Amino acid sequence: MTRRRFLASTAAASTALWASPLLGQGRPRVVVIGGGAGGATAARYIAKDSKGAIDVTLVEPTRRYYSCFFSNLYLGGFREFESLGHTYGTLAAAYGINVVHDWAVSVDRDKKTVGLAGGGSLAYDRLVLSPGIDFRPGSVRGWDLSQQNRMPHAYKAGSQTQLLKAQVAAMRQGGVYCMVAPPNPFRCPPGPYERISMVAHTLKQSNPTAKILIVDPKAKFSKQGLFEDGWQRLYPGMIERVGPDFGGDKVEVRPGSMEVVIDGEVNKVDVCNVIPAQQAGSIAATAGITNKAGWVPVVPHTMQSRADGNIHVLGDASQQGDMPKSGFSANSQAKVCAMAVRGALTSSKVFPARFSNTCWSLIGTDDGVKVGASYKATDEKIAKTDGFISKTGESAEQRKATYEESIGWYAGISKDIFG
Ligand SMILES: Cc1cc2nc3c(=O)[nH]c(=O)nc-3n(C[C@H](O)[C@H](O)[C@H](O)COP(=O)(O)OP(=O)(O)OC[C@H]3O[C@@H](n4cnc5c(N)ncnc54)[C@H](O)[C@@H]3O)c2cc1C
Repeated sequence: MTRRRFLASTAAASTALWASPLLGQGRPRVVVIGGGAGGATAARYIAKDSKGAIDVTLVEPTRRYYSCFFSNLYLGGFREFESLGHTYGTLAAAYGINVVHDWAVSVDRDKKTVGLAGGGSLAYDRLVLSPGIDFRPGSVRGWDLSQQNRMPHAYKAGSQTQLLKAQVAAMRQGGVYCMVAPPNPFRCPPGPYERISMVAHTLKQSNPTAKILIVDPKAKFSKQGLFEDGWQRLYPGMIERVGPDFGGDKVEVRPGSMEVVIDGEVNKVDVCNVIPAQQAGSIAATAGITNKAGWVPVVPHTMQSRADGNIHVLGDASQQGDMPKSGFSANSQAKVCAMAVRGALTSSKVFPARFSNTCWSLIGTDDGVKVGASYKATDEKIAKTDGFISKTGESAEQRKATYEESIGWYAGISKDIFG
């Protein structure tokens, strides 16, 4: 036995409507920054439920959003890349949302305006921020964004996900895939471990003598018992995890020589997936509403920033309490936010906030597991009220049904976000 733990052995393009002086006159204005799971949902619900009474502008740089959710299934060969892509045409055409494809680069909270990289400026009565995450500089020694093509994170979906898949396919026989896992809190708690499962599934077919090494600063991780059980059943001898008790929190990477140094011990690897520590998307810090940890504390009843009541913050960027950072959570928070924004701007009725989340993960073919919960708003935090989790030893039928449920969820939430 080495000093490590061998789990398997032991365990529409913007039509610049926003610039038109004819539109938006007299109507309260909402600007949404970020057209992902949180922002696009909020924009859609505010526009839809206010029936045109609120002028909604959505600012998002990309014309096609690739979801991180189900991107691991693409790595495992269960999903086509293009099935992860979504566009903004329906939000613009069917809901009258002004979609602006640009970066928000500044927020003037006194004047209540957002500056755009392209030079324009948007005035708001309420601002909704859902910019997702950025990586904390310096969190993995030897890695910064300039190394992302050699050691991809694939934690913002799109070309990074494609690159990681290509690197796995090109691995030499018997090579080593290494993942440097992130510390808490981070986007999608089961995400790294579902990814390990999907990479193992691929390698088992194309490269069965390959090894997978997880370097993890955390002692425990989401759905750990379920993943470890699945890895033993499906990928015995392939996956090794180094936790903090064996130096998983003391890691350095050397992209030039493809080495990973764990507590002084040099490991040569063939693919290295570095998932750094995270914080709110940088526009939140630019707006001056983040805390020391880099997240935005929010009022759970309305998702308003605790520092500025004119700004609502959703999804991964928010620090809200018990909910995991997930697409499901962001979508759920966006509906609470939309209701609060309408209440504030059009005096529509506001009901007590309720939230829910489920995180499905695929471990192998038809082998799906899930964890989920319901939540309510308290003055202090979004608080869990009850929850559920899959069990080890479930029948094959049950696992298949869970996987099929997740496929239905992806189709449903995509429609709920993008229309
Ligand atoms: C591998 C992986 C698997 C996952 N699997 C699941 C899953 O199965 N289920 C699940 O629920 N969740 C899953 N997630 C988590 C989910 O992807 C995120 O929690 C979710 O996308 C968060 O939504 P968001 O709105 O906060 O951010 P995002 O969806 O990332 O959207 C943020 C948007 O803001 C834009 N933006 C950023 N800065 C600016 C700016 N300055 N100006 C304008 N626009 C800006 C970005 O371009 C982006 O489109 C997974 C994540 C990963 C990485």
